[in-house]
Amino acid sequence: MGSRLMRFHLAVAALALTGYFLVPDGSTLQMIWQVAIGWYAAGMIVAGIRHRRPPMSVTWWLFALGVFGNSSGILVEWILTRTNTEWGFPSWADAAYLSLYPAVAMGMLLLIWKRTPHRDWASLLDATTMTTGLGLLAWIFMVKPAAADESIGLFGHIISVAYPVGDIVLLAMTVRLMISGSARNAAFRLVCAALLCFLAGDVAWAAINQVAWEPGPMAHKLLSVVFLAGFLCFGAAAAHPDMRSLSRPVAPRSWRIGRPLLLALTVASLVGPGLLVVQSVLHRVRGDDVLSIALGCVALSLLVVTRMSQLIRQLDVQTEKVRELAITDELTGLPNRRAWNIELPRTIERIRRTRDPLTVAIIDIDHFKLFNDAYGHLTGDRLLKEAAAAWQDQLRTADHLARYGGEEFVVMLPNATVEQASEIVDRMRLATPLGQTFSAGIALWNGAETSDALTARADKALYEAKRAGRNRIVEAGPAEALAA
Ligand code: GH3
Ligand code: MG
Ligand code: MG
Repeated sequence: MGSRLMRFHLAVAALALTGYFLVPDGSTLQMIWQVAIGWYAAGMIVAGIRHRRPPMSVTWWLFALGVFGNSSGILVEWILTRTNTEWGFPSWADAAYLSLYPAVAMGMLLLIWKRTPHRDWASLLDATTMTTGLGLLAWIFMVKPAAADESIGLFGHIISVAYPVGDIVLLAMTVRLMISGSARNAAFRLVCAALLCFLAGDVAWAAINQVAWEPGPMAHKLLSVVFLAGFLCFGAAAAHPDMRSLSRPVAPRSWRIGRPLLLALTVASLVGPGLLVVQSVLHRVRGDDVLSIALGCVALSLLVVTRMSQLIRQLDVQTEKVRELAITDELTGLPNRRAWNIELPRTIERIRRTRDPLTVAIIDIDHFKLFNDAYGHLTGDRLLKEAAAAWQDQLRTADHLARYGGEEFVVMLPNATVEQASEIVDRMRLATPLGQTFSAGIALWNGAETSDALTARADKALYEAKRAGRNRIVEAGPAEALAA
């Protein structure tokens, strides 16, 4: 586990938890033991801050404060029950217990903000969806029963509602931390484990209250061990060498939804209808619950629709990128053969209506193999790239240059007669960089032929240009000549 501080902490934690099971139930020693574990854990966080000097020390100070405050609540409660016969609910002990929530929530907020400087809407939406689903459960089973207790007065209501509300806030932060980005090191896992301990403990208590069960001494002990383990996990996170890197920014998360996340989101969205089904099967549907559940369902639907539209938008962007890549030549950045095969028939269809002239040229660099052999393949690539740019400079905006493959290029020159096209292609030939030349065949669309026939005629003219000695442009004969 890496460091002396961590080894020391693990040894103390093991002894502390084992010892807790040995001290007599309900004794002062048991109370002292619990408080000591909390204070020790808070002290360990401070020791971690001192020893490791983490970049976001305020987060850790807040964690230490939360752990110290919460564990001090045990002592305050003990003192109050023994000194004040009037003691009731709420009390200063609740203030101490509750201090965990704002302190840890603030710490988490800073941590999340530091870890995800990019605006991670996907994680935010997913965390909100899950929190809304689970929050709906907490609302029905924890907040509403707490608010319904007649015996505790307004202030009592506020305090007893503060616990489950604090849990919901912590839950939101935990989910948000857990689903955003990578870099899940040991300190990260320990902080998550600490938060999950507190949440599990609170949920267990809520469940016990729900079924009106009076836990025995052993169950009591097991329940409080969950909270003590939470304190010690916070201490372990601070003792671990990974503590320093916990607040380091993580790589942005993909907007995709993997299977586990999809499952979690599905479960969260089914909480509302699920509650209704269970309640109606048990014949326990209550009017005010129905309103809460309906509002929860509305919120969940809106969240799911927002996430869906975000996914679709991302998908559109991605599709556009892939489409662009599929029709672009990587080396020269020109449209590739696939783009040409789409563009030429389309242009021919347009020209068929307007009756404007259209000339096509096929260009092939002369002795490119020799050039490659003489200067190397990389210089050959440079020639292709620079030639593409130089030729493009000679073209009009309506013209369309594409890489047909290898060292062959094609140009579409709409509204150009063969003479005009010849002139333009000749300018291109003279602009060929690195002292190289090309041969070209050009063909005027005859008003009837297919794009393939037109290209074949230009190709035949190119062959003739090569045969006649290269570094020249040859006009294709009429279509019939090709058939002959
Ligand atoms: P010709 O004058 O008859 O056209 O002769 P050539 O050498 O240009 O023609 P050939 O078809 O014999 O050779 C073409 C060469 O182009 C062969 C191949 O290695 C090279 N080539 C094809 N694509 C690339 C590329 O992307 N980069 C580089 N550097 N070379 C390429
Ligand atoms: Mg060739
Ligand atoms: Mg060639």
